Amino acid sequence: MPMQSRKRWYTFKKQFQPFQSFNGFLFFFLNNETAQTAETLKLINMGPQQITDILWRVGGPDMTSGRDCAIYLVDLGPPVLIDCGSGYGFDRTIANIEKAGFNRGDLKTLIMTHCHADHIGAAPLFRSRFGTTLIIHEKDAEIVERGDIRLTASFCFGVDFKPLPVDKRLKGGSGTLRFGTYDLNWVHTPGHTPGSISLYLDKDRERTLFAQDIGAPLLTEFDCDPAAWLESIQKLFSLEADIICDGHSGAYGPKKIVREYLEYCLASQYQQGYIAAE
Ligand SMILES: [Zn+2]
Ligand SMILES: [Zn+2]
Repeated sequence: MPMQSRKRWYTFKKQFQPFQSFNGFLFFFLNNETAQTAETLKLINMGPQQITDILWRVGGPDMTSGRDCAIYLVDLGPPVLIDCGSGYGFDRTIANIEKAGFNRGDLKTLIMTHCHADHIGAAPLFRSRFGTTLIIHEKDAEIVERGDIRLTASFCFGVDFKPLPVDKRLKGGSGTLRFGTYDLNWVHTPGHTPGSISLYLDKDRERTLFAQDIGAPLLTEFDCDPAAWLESIQKLFSLEADIICDGHSGAYGPKKIVREYLEYCLASQYQQGYIAAE
């Protein structure tokens, strides 16, 4: 068990730029350039970054590889990983996990919020090295198990994605995963992908929400579904979380800022024309 600490590391700011790196990739992808450009993104944070007494960000585009999503580790008795990056930052991610005080051999659970390669490319490495159980919603399980190059966006991130069998499928609209004394709740939040999920955890009257790519542009290239997304973001508003962990840039809080973050996501979809104004 790592030292308990009340140190907090989340951003109090009103200007959100959650998908800067994602939009970088998008730009290069749409211009038919290669993901080599990822290397031009500089790693500016060493990590890990502690967010609450049981939550760390152990990877991300600023920390482990320009191709990685934000990678979170929650200490629920066993450490539980939420997303794992592209694979390019694997060694740095493991180093950060150990710096946070965990053993690599204890990484037995990986929850994948959706099927994109920047979030799951490292999953086969985790499973083969540490026997990690891979968990994903059934609708995205189909995509990763058939190794769909387009819908995993793996070509976009330069990930050589092979069909990936998963260990556990989350079925339906919501559920709870029990770890030690904690209930880790999940809700199906489709739109970004068909099987996107968000997770939330309540501890000490504080709710942490893992919304991951909820703010990402709803691209037709990846079969994003704007109508489903609008319902999903309403679910996230209704959770009234105190801290929100986004899929690329890190965590934001407190409650008022979480609400502003979600409003920002909503506004940017309209502004970019991914959702038609009524
Ligand atoms: Zn992403
Ligand atoms: Zn994504």
